[in-house]
Amino acid sequence: MPFNKLGLYSSIVRAITAKGYGEPTPIQQQAIPVVLSGRDLIASAQTGTGKTAAFALPILNRLGPHKLPAPRVLVLEPTRELAAQVDEAFREFGQFTDVRTALIHGGVGYGAQRNALHKGSDIVVATVGRLMDFLQERALRLDNLQVLVLDEVDRMLDMGFINDVKTIVSLCPKKRQTLFFSATVPPEIDAIARFALTDPVRIAIGRARSVNESVTHAIYPVSQGLKFALLLALLEKTNFNSVLVFTRTKHGADKIALRLKEAGHSVAVLHGNRSQGQRTAALKGFKDGKYEVMVATDIAARGIDVAGVSHVINYDIPMTPDDYVHRIGRTGRAAAVGDAFTLATPQEANDVRQIERFIKATIPQLKLEGFDYKAVPVAPVGGDSDYRGGRRQGQGRGSGGGAGRSSAAHHPKGKPGGHWHSGGRR
Ligand code: AMP
Repeated sequence: MPFNKLGLYSSIVRAITAKGYGEPTPIQQQAIPVVLSGRDLIASAQTGTGKTAAFALPILNRLGPHKLPAPRVLVLEPTRELAAQVDEAFREFGQFTDVRTALIHGGVGYGAQRNALHKGSDIVVATVGRLMDFLQERALRLDNLQVLVLDEVDRMLDMGFINDVKTIVSLCPKKRQTLFFSATVPPEIDAIARFALTDPVRIAIGRARSVNESVTHAIYPVSQGLKFALLLALLEKTNFNSVLVFTRTKHGADKIALRLKEAGHSVAVLHGNRSQGQRTAALKGFKDGKYEVMVATDIAARGIDVAGVSHVINYDIPMTPDDYVHRIGRTGRAAAVGDAFTLATPQEANDVRQIERFIKATIPQLKLEGFDYKAVPVAPVGGDSDYRGGRRQGQGRGSGGGAGRSSAAHHPKGKPGGHWHSGGRR
């Protein structure tokens, strides 16, 4: 069913058209009528399925024009970046209405946010910590709330916010609509849903633990000492528009970014130790195409939506299989095609197997054609096995540390059947 048949007002449909959406995605098809009906909803939907619009559009429809007392809608998000993204979606979808939104998150001053709350914003999109501050100082009351959205609940649980989330839920009026989104709904998350929801409609989009179908992913086995060289070689041989490189540690992210800059790439860095201003500038620069590569840690990059990320490269194996799914979800969002490569050392073979069990699929192992796998290993860069001394050779600008700069400029679709060098599988 097209957007104009889902029961949305023409002011909202106009905004959808302006955004360039064609057909509703499956979660939008299923969730929009439920939200419009006023029922509670629990949706397990993997990242990139279009779930933001699935709740933002019908919420705006239900709100009607700006009205006091405020706020009438509260959306809780696990990270600042996600909150900013969801706030922007509400602004875009509500551009032909007079509805006001406020974005509340940490890392920036309180003044402007306090003002926005004071003036009366219909919709508040917030991260948990800063919202708790405002609730405690009574700059915000939730008595008039009509709709509560708990987004990415699995991540809020991982990040240790669940008790605060429960406190916030208990401050909301009993009579309200609650919408609950989580990539997966294991028993501990279901328990939170039972606490927050009344007789919900359940929607599951896709297999809960699958990676985005449009993403082709691959493992590139490599020794630790050649990892950075392989990263450079992959970047060089790949037809990418924009690449997200994930590392486990903030320190590792900084080091890899520096090395990539030295090799002539334009690079942004996104991690939790950077100031809010730096994080915003990095993300904006990456979205605008000013930087071709962004190096990020998991928490900072969770859920961020960058249209046109053509590749994700896992420099380090993610900490949990769940993170793998989320990292990979950055590409291939809403059916674009993206590739995801993971550089894995023989020591990480077990982690790879865990990911494969989790996603219930075998990830093809590839070798990059033309890359000199026998090159003398150099000091490892980044990751958990940070090199802490000695000389780093051969990794200056353009040398690629043995990357074997090849003139081939083709996409590195290597042949399946690469193997671990030692101590790994098979
Ligand atoms: P989300 O899962 O909400 O983060 O959305 C992922 C991406 O898909 C965002 O860039 C959305 O703007 C985009 N998107 C959502 N719904 C649609 C749609 N019906 N048609 C095309 N793109 C969409």
